[in-house]
Amino acid sequence: MQAWVIGNWKQNPATNHDVNALLNDLLAVTDAQADTTPVTSRFQLMVAPSCIHLAAVSARLKGSTIQCAAQDISQHSASTGAYTGDCSAQQVADAGATWTILGHSERRQYHKESHDTLIKKLTHAFAKNLGVVFCIGETQTQYDDQQTLNVINDQLSVLKDLLTQQPELLLSLSERLIVAYEPVWAIGTGKVPTVEEVSKTHQYIKQTIASFAKTVDNMTVLYGGSVNASNADSFAADAMIDGALVGGASLKAESFLAIANAFS
Ligand code: PEP
Repeated sequence: MQAWVIGNWKQNPATNHDVNALLNDLLAVTDAQADTTPVTSRFQLMVAPSCIHLAAVSARLKGSTIQCAAQDISQHSASTGAYTGDCSAQQVADAGATWTILGHSERRQYHKESHDTLIKKLTHAFAKNLGVVFCIGETQTQYDDQQTLNVINDQLSVLKDLLTQQPELLLSLSERLIVAYEPVWAIGTGKVPTVEEVSKTHQYIKQTIASFAKTVDNMTVLYGGSVNASNADSFAADAMIDGALVGGASLKAESFLAIANAFS
């Protein structure tokens, strides 16, 4: 299985100028490597710019080895409509995204995304042929209370219920879905769980998904939360960890590509 290394740019960079500078740095390395060792044969790269930069970034990445994702899509099925501030699955696909992140803890926290909202978003993403990077993870309090696996189980029930509603999705689920385990307390804090803890949780995620999606025996599960160039090696060494979802360290080409190389 190829590792995935995905950069979540969040509400960054602030200007088009800085977006272009980051892309220049990324492409300078990945294009050069593609001549000798195809980057995609070692790991798959994806970046998720903010919605405002999505079309420009995906146009620039066309023909490169880096895929482009949205950070979210509207919960409404209509491609157009009176939903101020939303971008529909159709719009992000038209802007060139082939994937979307869904259920990021910042969306859950600041936009109160619920179980039902996430089922709708997954449905609309798959209907427009977008792959989904589905984020799950426990808060600090839940971690302290040793509730991690219960929280994960609850968050994965979104997928279980989706498959009950649309069993036909099972056929292509492992190609169209990536799960990212991101403990909320590790995001942007510099704190990380031990590799053993992540490994145990990933094993649980894979087993839980296999229990209700019988044909999916090895779901791709990434770790996210303060991954950087110094700690990526230790996560990459564990067989249960299929790559990384990277926030802060994805905003510098050098650290993002160092993380990717750790997973090669
Ligand atoms: C994220 O927000 O998805 C993330 C992993 O952030 P960071 O790497 O900055 O912790």
